[in-house]
Amino acid sequence: MPTKKIIIANLKMNLSLSQTASLARKFKNKFTAFNKGEVVICPATLALCRMAEILKGSRLKLGAQNVFWEENGPYTGETSVSSLAEIGCQYVILGHSERRMHLLENYEMIHKKVAAVVKSEKLTPIVCLGENWKERKTDRRDFVLVEQLWQALSGIDIFGDQQIIIAYEPIWAIGTGTAIKPDEAEYAHKIIKLALNDMFGMQVVSKNFRIIYGGSINPKNVKGFTDLENMDGLLVGGASLKAEEFYKVVKEITK
Ligand code: PEP
Repeated sequence: MPTKKIIIANLKMNLSLSQTASLARKFKNKFTAFNKGEVVICPATLALCRMAEILKGSRLKLGAQNVFWEENGPYTGETSVSSLAEIGCQYVILGHSERRMHLLENYEMIHKKVAAVVKSEKLTPIVCLGENWKERKTDRRDFVLVEQLWQALSGIDIFGDQQIIIAYEPIWAIGTGTAIKPDEAEYAHKIIKLALNDMFGMQVVSKNFRIIYGGSINPKNVKGFTDLENMDGLLVGGASLKAEEFYKVVKEITK
């Protein structure tokens, strides 16, 4: 497994094209000499090409927020894995809770996307999962996490060095400004790791999987997440919209 932590910025649909370009330039300047971790920026689909041009020559990597499972054909409004790879994307976020909620992405759709991405060996999927508040309150978190993992990944063959990132994102912490307690994240990551070990075996899991946390991480609370055992990185939403804040998060988690 890669030892460097990975920090992924999910810009969502928060910025205009010109705002995204301006942020990309700031990221490029801020991270010029940075080499302690892997940093991935995921802008809105329409901003990917421009972002790719701006980030050229830097160590910052490019990711998409979504992809379709077919390679081409009559799928209005969708984007293929190959097109993303062609413009320089190396990562893609899949199964984000906002897409599950607003676009009604279901288990079958997410599984098809993960399968297409893994089969292509062109992109690294960032598979998001996490429980909602009611599930957590009723002590169903562990079950929900294992269920979501199985729904997304069962039957998928992993070849060679193909990487898969699992992003644990408790829905009740996203966008609230309050992250969950680090030990709770550590516990959830352990559950995820055990389930992955059951599905793929320990060797594959340690070589091909990374588990990261997402949900209201900011420069103030990131410290608590730095030394956790099963923490391979972070998915950052709100705090990635300001270059300085995001830089502070990255610096702290990669200390
Ligand atoms: C996210 O939605 O992936 C996320 C981590 O958002 P935020 O950091 O704003 O909670």
